[in-house]
Amino acid sequence: MKIELSERVAVVTGASRGIGRAVAVALAAAGASVACVASKEANAQATVDAIRAAGGRAEPFGCDVGRPADITALADAVAKAFGRVDILVNNAGVTRDGLLMRMSEEDWDTVLDTNLKGAFLVVKAFSRHLLRSKCGRVINIASVVGISGNGGQANYAASKGGLIAFTKSVSKEIGSRGITANAVAPGFITTDMTDALTAEQRDAMVKGITLGRTGTPDDVAGVVTWLASDLAAYVTGQVIAVDGGLRL
Ligand code: NDP
Repeated sequence: MKIELSERVAVVTGASRGIGRAVAVALAAAGASVACVASKEANAQATVDAIRAAGGRAEPFGCDVGRPADITALADAVAKAFGRVDILVNNAGVTRDGLLMRMSEEDWDTVLDTNLKGAFLVVKAFSRHLLRSKCGRVINIASVVGISGNGGQANYAASKGGLIAFTKSVSKEIGSRGITANAVAPGFITTDMTDALTAEQRDAMVKGITLGRTGTPDDVAGVVTWLASDLAAYVTGQVIAVDGGLRL
């Protein structure tokens, strides 16, 4: 069965690069119209250009998901541009790594505000649009460390663990309206976010991956596109690891 998303409108946060960009491009390739959201509108333009060059439909939007006023304005602007919203992908995320003893309150707040509160505000702002869809989907990009925890990432792991619990709660609240909510938990995916690691750290990480390689943004985008489609209509409240069998 072919994945077919034409007539559907998707919103992807953090669509300027990495996983979010791959997700936006994949959803558009399956036929969806895509609102590509980055912290500044100009940052999302290259993704929009790539989608349009391939014959797809996309528009760029600027929204700092740490700013509630930006999110309200985003929901209005997307509804005006596309008239509906069916698929919401909460992908925008940041890290501010450090050992607990030295972690500043500011680094804690930035990560929780962006990764967790941002997702809450985005789902809330778009919920009335999703409720009108016959095939609504909420897909939150969590992380395997939201399940396992990770030394040096207490803020990030807490935000992703919270995002998983949030996703399950959302699935229970909106399931009766035929809307699904799932989390995707990537392992080690090669993007700007993981570029900061040294070659030694990377090699040590790869040793623990069953498939013997790091993941690509497209590895994640494939699973997100499946979750967005009718093929996953009976899947909700789940956390799907996309980690190449990390530490199996
Ligand atoms: P990148 O650092 O490559 O990209 C982050 C994206 O988030 C950018 O598009 C950025 O937009 C956007 N963003 C950051 N802060 C904000 C904000 N305040 N408001 C709006 N947009 C914002 O990250 P990845 O592609 O690697 O990660 C994407 C998601 O996947 C994140 O949630 C991350 O936690 C998660 N993840 C990644 C893993 C990995 O190994 N890479 C592993 C597990 C989870 P802009 O360009 O405008 O700054």
